[in-house]
Amino acid sequence: MHKTLFKVYEPPADGVSRAISTPFSTPFSTLFVEICVLALPPMAQARIYIVEDEEDIAEVLSYNLEKEGFQVEVERRGDAALEAIRRDPPDLLVLDLMLPGIDGKEITRSLKREPATAGIPIVMLTARGEELDRIVGLELGADDYIPKPFSPREVVLRVQAVLRRTQAATASESAAPREVLEVGRIKLDVPAHRLYVRGTETPLTATEFRLLKLLMERCGRVQSRGQLLSDVWGYAEDVDSRTVDTHIRRLRRKLGGEAERIETIIGVGYRLRA
Ligand code: CA
Repeated sequence: MHKTLFKVYEPPADGVSRAISTPFSTPFSTLFVEICVLALPPMAQARIYIVEDEEDIAEVLSYNLEKEGFQVEVERRGDAALEAIRRDPPDLLVLDLMLPGIDGKEITRSLKREPATAGIPIVMLTARGEELDRIVGLELGADDYIPKPFSPREVVLRVQAVLRRTQAATASESAAPREVLEVGRIKLDVPAHRLYVRGTETPLTATEFRLLKLLMERCGRVQSRGQLLSDVWGYAEDVDSRTVDTHIRRLRRKLGGEAERIETIIGVGYRLRA
């Protein structure tokens, strides 16, 4: 049943990311995972750290995860595990609660406190029926928990689901538009709609803002007048292409010493030079 639960999508040739919802079922519930089609590292190469003092459990887990192509390391003591994780953070942690040295809760607390390790997804292994452990684990920031006894297949599925979620979240973060655009000494604070030229704030009209933002986002690429008209003015048919020239002229005046970064490409349009 497991081989068909996840589908891998190749990044599209045009490099544009698209979100795809893929339904799959676990023995417990039906989940929907958002898979973002950016060039993510293949999940199978993810490095998983298992912290578990019961040798037979650790063995069966690492065997099953390795079979799926994961790189797996096992540590049985909590204190040694915490040191190793800080030294070389894994992609995911499978963490038992009761451990020699320091316990799973304390490890989670310590990792979540430090920026370098706070983002490591954690799947907690809890003793059967220990509702309190489960709640405490999730409150501490564990991403999922699995009550013992569990089937190794279930652990593999949970690990894959948590990694998918984490990777999709990372991808959408990096795909989010940048908040502040900078070209040379032109700085555009997008959410605040503010332009700073060589450190001095310069007021912009809404259209000038959209025009400059677009040129900055497409820095180094020639934009035809037609393109600018459709992207800045929104396909307005009644807008004369000379409108673009007028706005570019006004924008250049506002850019002062940085004005020459807007280059005229004769017969085509404009380009912002980096
Ligand atoms: Ca234990």
